[in-house]
Amino acid sequence: MALKDIFGQERAKRFLKQLLSLGKLPHAVLFSGMQGIGKLTLAREFAKLLNCLNPQSSDCCDACASCLKIRDGHHADLVWVKSDGAYIKLDQIRNLKQRLSFRPFEGKWRIVIIEDAQDLREEAGNALLKLLEEPPKQNLFVLTTLEPQMLLPTIVSRCCHVRLQPLEEIWIEKYLRDTQGLPPSQARTIATMAEGSLDRAKWLAEPARIVHMNEVLENISRLRELSMVDFFPLTAQWAKGSADLEQDLECIKLWIRDLVLSRLVTGHNPMLQTDEPTLKQARKVSVESLLSLFVDIENAHLRLRQNANKQLTLEGVCLAIKESLYGESGWNSLSQWREDLSF
Ligand SMILES: [Zn+2]
Repeated sequence: MALKDIFGQERAKRFLKQLLSLGKLPHAVLFSGMQGIGKLTLAREFAKLLNCLNPQSSDCCDACASCLKIRDGHHADLVWVKSDGAYIKLDQIRNLKQRLSFRPFEGKWRIVIIEDAQDLREEAGNALLKLLEEPPKQNLFVLTTLEPQMLLPTIVSRCCHVRLQPLEEIWIEKYLRDTQGLPPSQARTIATMAEGSLDRAKWLAEPARIVHMNEVLENISRLRELSMVDFFPLTAQWAKGSADLEQDLECIKLWIRDLVLSRLVTGHNPMLQTDEPTLKQARKVSVESLLSLFVDIENAHLRLRQNANKQLTLEGVCLAIKESLYGESGWNSLSQWREDLSF
């Protein structure tokens, strides 16, 4: 692979080549943008170009010893820093500093990739800032992040910021057809649902995905008729039995997105097969309410990532779905609750 083989991101690729041809390489580059649009691939291919022994037409050759070592992750001058657990820790940046006190071993440039720089703990961020303020020669820092606002402003100001764009649907559709062998209609639907992220598209295209999503939808459809007495056992059983609750929430978000798209886009081919009673009920709810439900689930997803209690989070999600879709009528009357609870 070389820069020219990366999907999309033409503007960013042109800009990087221009920096190199003008001999104006900054000390640090920051690639920002959503997950799955090629930030790390771009960083790696740029590292290849900088150290390529036989560059061709402003791109790496992808065949020399240096290119192959970088491709296989064996190049001594490609340093990759990413979170150890939830964060990039101070010790990791201290180790990096020590490593940078030596000249590059075999390459013209040492490339230091800081993956998901938003994971830097504050003290690690401050230590990195010191390195960026006095960068050792022949070292290029490449930071990636979802949003530059997630970093210390002083770090961003030390970097040449390149914002990457979500990939065009047409690219993703082509990839799914040509590389994954998906039929055109399925490739088109998944490309729409992928929101510009190739990672997301690949995730959606996994064969087991639809089966898993249907299981999640089955649980959701059971919510419709559920009394208070049955509600908590269902969520408890779901939380306990789920192999990956985060993925379940991801499926629920996709399902809501599918419902919204079906309402807004003429001819949208739904990816998920929602049962007719649920679909009928969802058509009665405003698009705004569906979007607000989406935000609720997204917040729950975030809390789950921060180690919130699984069952409580799932209960909150199911309550939000039940109340948004079925309103008060979705619950039994108060007298019925009492009856239910009295056994
Ligand atoms: Zn090469």
